[in-house]
Amino acid sequence: MDLLRTREDVERQEEYFLAPFAQKSSATRGRRHAQPAHCWRSEYQRDVARIIHSAAFRRLEYKTQVFLNGTGDHYRTRLTHTMEVASISRTLARALGLNEDLAEAIALAHDLGHSPFGHSGEETLKRLLKDYGGFDHNGQSLRVVTLLESPYEDFDGLNLTYEVLEGVQKHATARIGPGLGTYPSACLEGQIADLADEIAYYTHDLQDGLEAGLIKAAQLADVALCTEVSHDHGLDLAEADAKTARLSLARLLSNHLIQDVLETSAVRIATAAVQTADDTRCHPGLLIAYSEGTAAKTKALRSFLYAHLYFHPEVNDANQRACDLMADVFGAYLQDPSQIGREATRRVPNSGLHRAAGDYIAGMTDRYLLREHARLFHGG
Ligand code: MG
Repeated sequence: MDLLRTREDVERQEEYFLAPFAQKSSATRGRRHAQPAHCWRSEYQRDVARIIHSAAFRRLEYKTQVFLNGTGDHYRTRLTHTMEVASISRTLARALGLNEDLAEAIALAHDLGHSPFGHSGEETLKRLLKDYGGFDHNGQSLRVVTLLESPYEDFDGLNLTYEVLEGVQKHATARIGPGLGTYPSACLEGQIADLADEIAYYTHDLQDGLEAGLIKAAQLADVALCTEVSHDHGLDLAEADAKTARLSLARLLSNHLIQDVLETSAVRIATAAVQTADDTRCHPGLLIAYSEGTAAKTKALRSFLYAHLYFHPEVNDANQRACDLMADVFGAYLQDPSQIGREATRRVPNSGLHRAAGDYIAGMTDRYLLREHARLFHGG
């Protein structure tokens, strides 16, 4: 039996191996509803499992990242995006001596609130709910884990630790969490998930855009970050064929960005002389960051992606058509509230019909929404 490691062993490992300013699971502020500690797993390992086993997590498989779900087997879905964010988060956390389990949990939860049909879907929900509190996928992720996922009999939500909620909220523009946001920043593990999200989508959206043929390698010769990393590895974008660019660029780019964040963050943390996780929360300004030069170049890459990919007619028109169907479904629920699901109906008295319908639609997969539209409008 001595072979088995207990939660106390995991906590001792954290004390021994992690940096002093890492968030230790034994120092958690705990859960809203007290639950006894687990014999094998640390609190953040439990959070990871709760998120992975949630229905909202499973639905990510059928939600659009950029290319409408189901249009190509190799494009990222919201689920594979989430897994890439979690993987990058673990890499960053391990290299900086931070808590990998916590960074992973925050990364796995960060997009749970994403609506179907990607960015266009979010814009549509924002419009539909504009007089009823609006919609923001980061705030919605917090809503999913604190209210909408409901696996326990005694309370709503997944009852995650304070630190995971803090990290998910840091991602949110609206501070809506109960008792959260008393510090200027989230712990470093939360800051990591935030940047890992960016690194993941910059690189994989670029790769998917090349795969779809909507972005040509030669166009990237005008994007400083792409030319720099290519040049460093003997790849000439102006001459490169699509396949070489597609296969090499995402790998080189993510490696470059991760390296930049690690080096910059290590210097910032050392300069700030933070001693504890709470010191990092109270520090004015983020400690996990790109270098100044790279930050400016990532903005240029982001502008390129908006101009040439996210609003490319082939991406945007298909998503827009799907969003018209979303608006139809929302309208149908308002006209006949008996059509919304059982769980959503249960929430109408507290949340109001608009919010309950919005929550229900935001939780849908792309294909479920299309089926719901067919049921409501074509009887099928
Ligand atoms: Mg994301």
